[in-house]
Amino acid sequence: MNKTQRLLAICSFLLISGFSGFAQKVDSSYFTELWSPEPRVVTPGKNISEPPSDAIILFNGKDLSAWKGRDGGPAKWAVADGAFTVVPKTGEIATKEAFGDCQLHVEWKISPDVSGTSQQRGNSGIFLMGKYELQVLDNYAGKTYVNGQAGAIYKQSIPLVNACRPPGEWQTYDIIFTAPRFGDDGRVKSPAIITVLHNGVLVQNNFHIIGGTQYIGIASYKKHGDKEPITLQDHGNPTSFRNIWIRPL
Ligand code: MG
Repeated sequence: MNKTQRLLAICSFLLISGFSGFAQKVDSSYFTELWSPEPRVVTPGKNISEPPSDAIILFNGKDLSAWKGRDGGPAKWAVADGAFTVVPKTGEIATKEAFGDCQLHVEWKISPDVSGTSQQRGNSGIFLMGKYELQVLDNYAGKTYVNGQAGAIYKQSIPLVNACRPPGEWQTYDIIFTAPRFGDDGRVKSPAIITVLHNGVLVQNNFHIIGGTQYIGIASYKKHGDKEPITLQDHGNPTSFRNIWIRPL
């Protein structure tokens, strides 16, 4: 080993030992669950959106024919009264069609009988490309970590405001999404970008997504197709959906 190699080896050792020492002292949940600052509360207006003429209807109020279950078979969530509801433990459902850049409208409702606290209050989620979660949750009155509340890009971006309606009332998400671009070598050429209106109120403004949603840990990208199915999360709570339409861009 010459002098330069020795110096490099010592520097590497100091860096690695310093980093691992730091990592041992830190509880990862401390980093990933933020409880402040709390987005201020905004009361949304009353109206909700009808699909425009060129939209692809992903739920027609009658059946889940545009969706498939986790095993690729029929989606097992319950359809009734022009809406469908998560049947806990049947798994997430995914669109049969794959989508990339898009404008997406989703309406969702937390059960009026919601109980529990924090992340157990009507938790579901819309996973763009099956990977990037826009949180669905009740935090109208309940509290949770702010980077996990409704309108959050889960564990990545706190909503600008809290535009929640109470449990039992229909709520809207209008999403404008740009898919990530990857090079042939798998590297990210440009990240996914998302803008979200919750009940007509801007909650995410051109946020550059850090990577695939992680419960704990730092999000990162893994190369995937230009188009991927959208999935809805089964988090064990009977949250309902209706009037879902999309405009590929
Ligand atoms: Mg969720």
